[in-house]
Formats: sequence, structure tokens, C-alpha cells
Amino acid sequence: MLGASIPELPGSTDSMQEHGSPWSRLRGLEPMSLCDWPGRVSAVLFLGGCDLRCPTCHNFQLAWETWNTPCLPRSQVMDLLRKRSSWLDGLVVTGGEAALSADLPEWLADLRAHVGLPIKLDTNGMHPAVIERTVTAEAVDLVAVDIKGPWSKYPLLTGNRATPEQARANMKQIFALARDKPGSFQFRTTLVPELTQDDLNAMQHLPPPGFVLQMQRFKTPATVIERR
Ligand code: SF4
Repeated sequence: MLGASIPELPGSTDSMQEHGSPWSRLRGLEPMSLCDWPGRVSAVLFLGGCDLRCPTCHNFQLAWETWNTPCLPRSQVMDLLRKRSSWLDGLVVTGGEAALSADLPEWLADLRAHVGLPIKLDTNGMHPAVIERTVTAEAVDLVAVDIKGPWSKYPLLTGNRATPEQARANMKQIFALARDKPGSFQFRTTLVPELTQDDLNAMQHLPPPGFVLQMQRFKTPATVIERR
């Protein structure tokens, strides 16, 4: 529902405060994708910046070297999305890590109000407070959460940016949200070389009951951010 109220953010971390509004982070637009929201024809918005340093990151220029790519202006993006909205089934917001922006829920609600498309949000799951505000405000239709691996491998899989304890605590909050709104979440894992079959077997039991952990093929890291 577009008009749902957005609750106050109870607290934000320093790393979040370093990141501006999503409009100031918007670095890429894919006008049409058949794979970013399976079953839908979607446009994709890419927000620069990420708090993790996954060695297998497929979008590392966008995530870690945002300053090398100019920001896309709001007016052009809104015009393009409005013109194409009748050809699209959805809008995907990805990164980088979108939930670094504390005002993400308000931004998403504004986007939906102007474009009128269902929205899927991709996240690494490390900012549960922002995700909670987003789903409480009903600013998105689906949140796709990456589970990088078993908690014990988070330091390896995130470039030492998340400890096992942080991963477990953040995902515990995300799982609680998913139990309350099961239709609004999906969980997925990218099959990076660091994960063993034993890891994958153990991870099947991480999401809440009723959720199937979806496996994604590992893509070779890209060197170019597509901009059209
Ligand atoms: S969370 Fe995603 S965008 Fe961030 S470093 Fe890892 S793979 Fe890259």
C-alpha cells in the first residue's frame, strides 16, 4: 500500500550515516531485465556503495569504487521509468547495498508512488533495522536476502567485514521479519567456490520453516557497470 506510514528508525550505525540518500547513490539503470526478478520483466536500479568486501563480488566497481561512476539524475530516471512502466512487471533495487541509506523506506515509497510498479529489494541482510522499516511501511513487495554462507564463514566470504556473531544476529532479526511476512521475503545463496557441499547442506536449515534457500550460479566478477 503506497500510503502506509513509515516508523522512526530507532538507531543507525556510523557506517550508515556515511551514506547519503539513495538518489545520491544511484549509479546505474538497466531498462529491461528478464533475470533479476524471475518471472517478471523488470527494470533494475543500481545503488553504489557496500559495507562488505566479498572477494567474489560481481559488481565491485559499483560497490567499492562508486566515485568512478557519475550519479544518475532523478528526473531522467523517473521519466524513463514512467515511459516504460506499461512494458514492465516490476522494478528491482540492487547494489551495492541499498540498505546503507537510512532513508531507503521513504525513497522506495516515493519511487512506487511515481512509477506505480511492484518493487523487489536485494540486500545482504546486514541492516535489519532498515529492512524492518521498509517492510513495515509496505514500501516493497519482495525482499531478496543473500545468505553468504554458514555464519562461521562470514569473515572469509565478506572480506572480514562481518563476524560470525554479527551475521547470526542480523539474520536472526531478518528471519523474524520473514516469519511475520513470509510472502515478502526470499533467501538465496550464490554458489561461490569457497562453499563446500557440507556448507550447502548445513545452510538449508538456516532460513525459517517454509522457506527454501535458493541457489544462484556464481558469475565471473564484472569489470564494467552497464549504463544505458
Ligand atoms: S554484499 Fe554484494 S555488493 Fe556487497 S561486496 Fe558482497 S557481493 Fe558485492
